[in-house]
Amino acid sequence: MTLTPPPLKNDCFALPAGQDWTPVPQIHQLLQQRLTPIAQVKSMPAIDALGYVLAEPVLARRDNPPHANSAVDGYGLCAELYGEGSHVVSCVKGRSAAGAPYLHDVPKHKAIRILTGASVPAGVDTIVLQEDVATDGDKIAFNGPLKVGSNLRKAGEDAKATAEILPAGRRITPTDLALMAATGVQSVRVYQPLRVGVLSTGDELAEAGSEADEHQIYDANRPMLLAMIARFGHVAVDLGVAPDERNAVQTMLESASSEVDVILTSGGASAGDEDHVSALLQDQGRLVQWRIAMKPGRPMALALWNGTPIFGLPGNPVAAFVCGLVFAKPALDLLAGKGWGWPEGRLVPASFVKRKKPGRHEYLRARIREGRAEVFASEGSGRVSGLSWAEGLVELPFEEAEVSEGSLVRYYTYEDFGL
Ligand code: AMP
Ligand code: MG
Repeated sequence: MTLTPPPLKNDCFALPAGQDWTPVPQIHQLLQQRLTPIAQVKSMPAIDALGYVLAEPVLARRDNPPHANSAVDGYGLCAELYGEGSHVVSCVKGRSAAGAPYLHDVPKHKAIRILTGASVPAGVDTIVLQEDVATDGDKIAFNGPLKVGSNLRKAGEDAKATAEILPAGRRITPTDLALMAATGVQSVRVYQPLRVGVLSTGDELAEAGSEADEHQIYDANRPMLLAMIARFGHVAVDLGVAPDERNAVQTMLESASSEVDVILTSGGASAGDEDHVSALLQDQGRLVQWRIAMKPGRPMALALWNGTPIFGLPGNPVAAFVCGLVFAKPALDLLAGKGWGWPEGRLVPASFVKRKKPGRHEYLRARIREGRAEVFASEGSGRVSGLSWAEGLVELPFEEAEVSEGSLVRYYTYEDFGL
């Protein structure tokens, strides 16, 4: 039996010693350096590959177009023969139509009727638009001079056989299906989508849509995180709810780790009495607590469980959502073979006023109205309604900042994060 090293190292989430509150960009850098694709690679028919991530670049199998063809309905001829002035040229019998080529050479001083998409026969280097021609059925009359090569698509002008048409890491789009079809690509090497499990934790949680006691709250994180994962292009696996009880959490993580590639948990990730996710991972000696210099966000727990990465997200829905976008999303992209996925965002004028302390990034629920970023009235981390009110996030920098009306702030739409 050949032994292969595990795809991720045990210390992949370790932070530099002595680090207290770690800035977001540093955590991004660390994840990029330590994580590698863990998704399996397989071959599949190109036409079925919408949404899959390419594991290898795709090469054109043939020229597009495969043969020079006409871009218009008109007449094909050899242009250099016809200078300034009017010309009358007789046509060969027959024509070239799309899918029904003219299979002979066109003699030098002759023209041929040719239709859009038809192969250009030998002897023709230019097509004259039919609108620029008078004809009696046998001859055509037109004015010169002609521009050699006009109205004609050259073989391979769009893509050359063996050229790379799509890079590894690309998530295949509908237009990519057109490009691969046009260049004769039949099969592609893709990453199998990641299976990402989502586990909620907490004795207070009731299943969304069920009857709930007064002291219970509905599990809002699990439907949200499952849907986010599906939008990111992974397979979302519902792992249910774990009670605040160590053995139960352990059993659930144990069985989940053999079933999925990555686990996202929410809740129980801090250092409180009932924070069983972090306590369990801690005891197993596999925990890394990230104290992230950002708001919202408490410590996030990261660990490898039997080689399966676990992202222990905060329980508050707003923090779970923001940490999901800011950390889990780009990391999952990388694990899935897509490469690190962090959006650029854009600078937009603010329509709000805010002063922030130095030493952490802040993410505010925001949306654009009349070209300006407005933010949700409350920064409360439990305010689920603000997540739906917002259409994106404003990111305030690590440094001290004083936002006033019209000052520029960085804004990411939810779509920028793949939602
Ligand atoms: P925890 O991190 O477990 O202390 O949870 C922090 C806060 O988030 C508490 O108010 C929890 O009730 C709440 N919370 C935890 N998990 C969820 C969830 N799945 N849906 C909604 N709220 C949650
Ligand atoms: Mg809890």
